[in-house]
Amino acid sequence: MGNFSRDPILLTPGPLTTSLATRMAMLRDWGSWDSAFNAVTGMVRDRLLAVVEAAGSHVCVPMQGSGTFAVEAAVNTLVPRDGHLLVLVNGAYGTRLAKLAGMMGRRVSVLESAEDVPAPVAAVDTRLRDDPSITHVALVHCETSTGILNPLAEVAEGVARAGRRLIVDAMSSFGALPIDARSLPFDALIAASGKCIEGPPGMGFAFVRRDVLERCAGNSTSLSLDLHDQWHYMERTTQWRFTPPTHVVVALSAALEQFEAEGGQAARHARYARNCEVLVRGMEELGFRPFLSSGVQAPIIVTFHAPADPRYGFREFYDRVRDKGFILYPGKLTQVETFRVGCIGAIGPDEMRHAVNAVRDTLVEMGIRHAGPA
Ligand SMILES: *Cc1c(COP(=O)(O)O)cnc(C)c1O
Repeated sequence: MGNFSRDPILLTPGPLTTSLATRMAMLRDWGSWDSAFNAVTGMVRDRLLAVVEAAGSHVCVPMQGSGTFAVEAAVNTLVPRDGHLLVLVNGAYGTRLAKLAGMMGRRVSVLESAEDVPAPVAAVDTRLRDDPSITHVALVHCETSTGILNPLAEVAEGVARAGRRLIVDAMSSFGALPIDARSLPFDALIAASGKCIEGPPGMGFAFVRRDVLERCAGNSTSLSLDLHDQWHYMERTTQWRFTPPTHVVVALSAALEQFEAEGGQAARHARYARNCEVLVRGMEELGFRPFLSSGVQAPIIVTFHAPADPRYGFREFYDRVRDKGFILYPGKLTQVETFRVGCIGAIGPDEMRHAVNAVRDTLVEMGIRHAGPA
């Protein structure tokens, strides 16, 4: 077992490997009343808005907790209690979104497509034409359970044309894939600290159209998961409504500085795309086959078919790769056995090459000669 003094590289879609500078930012304690801390919160909100060019139209409302807390808060705040939400589902995060909306008492319909097929734009248009009771549509931009890229711009156009409102779970795409609020019509877009901005986990945030949020008072059925109240309180006091994740906020601020220094979204996209390319090419050379066709694969996380070889078992494979310094991610598909490898975090093509080498050595150790599926 190696790596006595080094943390393993996280090839997972959050938490992910962060830079030393980001981790160092967490070495100080901050008071939640302190104006210096609240100034950091304000700057973080402004910087996040700038990533999607939304300063003129939207506000950034942070929310304590993991990404799901922010999604739940956004749906609960934006969809009126008598609203009707259509959720486009082609993976586990879409399913989760539909479930949380239903649990909050909203009327929910689901438009499902296969896990390897992007959300069907024409079917959405038809559904909206046929069912005038649908008020809102929710889409997961990059469905992290497979890594598939959904057609955000086309869905957004159709939803806007039909006069409905769009909520986007952009958790695993924000910061890496291009999103421009000046040309993309959406009411809310949600992401979190611990994904492509490369901060630590613990804080979500939603970009909400300002004139829409102003009319959302009283929608939420939850005290804590209420973006309108959170926003209103923050505007009035500059403070968080309840205890803020102080260390996460200052580390996210440091991560955003590095994001800008790297060259922003375009540079991050380019690095992740290289990571993805090196990973897929290396794994294919070993005989592995990606679950998605390359045309629908986002450069965020790659799902691979598990080897058909009877000597393969995920647990042993995972443990052996981990002992070489790399943390893989289990598959999340119901029908086929897979595992996933993330391309995001403070890592580059060298780390991906080393990860492929660790996988190669592991195959040899386990006596697996054919890494391909059946
Ligand atoms: C990570 C992620 C979430 C949030 O999941 P948490 O476990 O709450 O952090 C939601 N949607 C997508 C697409 C994600 O990748």
